[in-house]
Formats: sequence, C-alpha cells, structure tokens
Amino acid sequence: MINYQRLSDEFVRLAAIDSPSYREAAIAAYLHQRFLQLGADVLFDATGSAIGSESGNMIARFPGTREGEPFLICAHMDTVGPAENVQPVLNNGVFTSAGNTILGADDKAGIAELIEAIEVLNEQDIPYGPLEVVITVCEELGLLGAKEFDFSTLKSKRGVALDTTGIDRIINRAPAANRMKIDIHGIEAHAGVCPEQGISAIMIAGKAIARMTLGRIDEDTTANIGTINGGIASNIIPGQVCLHGEVRSHRPERLQQVTEAIIRCCEEEVYSSSVVIDGDTRHATMSIEIKEDFPAMQIPDTAPIVQLVINAGLALQRPQQIAAAGGGSDANIFNDHGIDMVILGTGMAKVHTPQEQVTVDDMVKVSELLVEIIRSA
Ligand SMILES: [Zn+2]
Repeated sequence: MINYQRLSDEFVRLAAIDSPSYREAAIAAYLHQRFLQLGADVLFDATGSAIGSESGNMIARFPGTREGEPFLICAHMDTVGPAENVQPVLNNGVFTSAGNTILGADDKAGIAELIEAIEVLNEQDIPYGPLEVVITVCEELGLLGAKEFDFSTLKSKRGVALDTTGIDRIINRAPAANRMKIDIHGIEAHAGVCPEQGISAIMIAGKAIARMTLGRIDEDTTANIGTINGGIASNIIPGQVCLHGEVRSHRPERLQQVTEAIIRCCEEEVYSSSVVIDGDTRHATMSIEIKEDFPAMQIPDTAPIVQLVINAGLALQRPQQIAAAGGGSDANIFNDHGIDMVILGTGMAKVHTPQEQVTVDDMVKVSELLVEIIRSA
C-alpha cells in the first residue's frame, strides 16, 4: 500500500533543505506547495515575526472525505545544527547524512511519513474525516513556535505528534520543567589586602550547591545545576556568581518542591553570610528568576487517543508500547491548550548528532500506522 520509493524520495527532498531553527523560509515554502498539492488549505500564522523566525507555523486543513471529529497531526519543520548543506545518503535502506551535519530525520522523517500517508489515503480513495496538520517552527529552541501558536484557530480536540525515536511507541506522559537563574551577590574586596571586608559569592554558591540534592531525585523527578559563572581575578574576592539550573518532573507538586528546596539551599547560605565593615553589618544578597519552561503532559493509558493508536496498531498486528518521555516537546504545549495529543515514534535514531539515522522500512511502517490512524480517527 505504501509507496517505498515515493516515501524515500520525499524524505530526500525534505532532508536536503537546510532548516535550522529561525531559518525555516525554504522548508516552509516547500511544505506550502506540497500540502497544497495534497489538497489542503494552507496558511502560516504570525509567529515568525513574533519570535524573529523566517517563517510562522504552518496550518494545513484537509476537509476530509467523510463526516467526523477533526483530527490533528503535528510535527516541526526546524532542526538542530550543524545543518549547513545537509546531504542525505541512503545505504542499505538506512539514511544518514553524508558528512558532519545532522540528518534532520528529527523531524523530517515524521513529515515525510505523514505526506506519504495522505498520498495513500487520496490515491486509494480511503475515506477520512477532517484533518488538521500543524508544522511548527523553532521547536528545537524551546518549543517557541508552539508556545506562540494561536490555538483558537484549531477545531481538533485530539491528535498525535510525530516526534520521538523508535516505532510503535506511544508517549503519553512528559515532564514539566522549571528553569532557574540564581544570582548571588557577595561583596568584592582585595583578597590579599583586606579579605575581611569581602563576602565571596563563589564560596556561598559552593556551600549551597554542596547541600542540594541533584541528579535523579525520584522516578519522576530530576534536577541539575548546569552552569556556574562568576569572579573576576584570583586576587579579588568574588562579588558575583550566577548559576543556571533546571528541575523536571512528571508531578507538578514535586516540580514545585524540588525547585523550592534548591532555592532554600541558596537562601540559607546567602542570608547567613555577613561581614562587619566600619561598624556596619553587611549581608550577601541574591536574586532568582524561575521560568516554567513547559507544562507536564499526562494522558491516561485508557484515554481515547491512546486507545485509537493502540487499535490502529492492532489492525496491523503491531502492538504499541506506551512510554513516558524525559523531555518536553510541542505536545506538552498542545496538551496544555486542551488538546489530547500523544507523541508517536517516527523511526528516527541517534538524533541531535551527526550519526542521526532512519531506515526506509521504519518510515514505511509509520506511514502504514498513520493511514490506519487517520482512517479510523
Ligand atoms: Zn523533534
């Protein structure tokens, strides 16, 4: 049913268009024409100018050939770098890049699989209901396109995102994340002449970090301090240090608790650090910025969207594996806007590296699954 050659050719065309985040104009123009050709109404939203990208998110609408609840399929058109002159190479059914670039199977394998599925539905006159396709920009930079997307334009209440490794995998849970920037302000002083008049911001940070519980906190929760920057010279007691860290959790209350625990470690060290200069007691201070990077997604295994995918797999005699993700993706944002969306494996592997790859056989299987999902949605 799936046209192996057509799917493979589609992937080659997509992969050969460089599309690092913010520079999606060329791939957007290609997708615009391609989805028109498939029979969709295509438009782009204003996200491009809002986030400083060459393109907005693409929304393609297929009226479908029967009545039904609208169904949403999401992917992203940008890639991580290095993505200059990507040359896809096919060897024994495996696509890789020719050189030191990524391949961009993340997420172009998903886009090619979707295009092939729609080709098949059209070619074989398989009835399907209204279909909405959203292809976002700047996903790799922190879901910027999805965060800016105007959800009031969508009719669908359920859907799938094509954006994870492996095949026959359903991701229905993904953690929320907080990102933190912690600035600790000590007091600068000459380290050799008058160290008693200084408060070392680096020392405070060191003591605070030593008290933090980091790494894997529990099955659902992780925490990290990823960068530490501060100080000016070896002979100056450092007055400034800046820490960047993050906490992720599948459980919102744990996200909150662990974030607060990290801040408390800093606060206790900061507020117990003081010096007396000319009779005046002076304290260290700190400032914190916490940003919710993305909300958690939590779809029960029994939810209709999960069952829809499982049943589509069963129709092809392919059991689906349900799993949790460790990171955020566009689906976190869609779920937060009231759309039940799970993430499906696209066959991509070793993503975000020059060894990235995908096999045509796996892409064929995902297209087959998509035909079944769209047909039965
Ligand atoms: Zn991706």
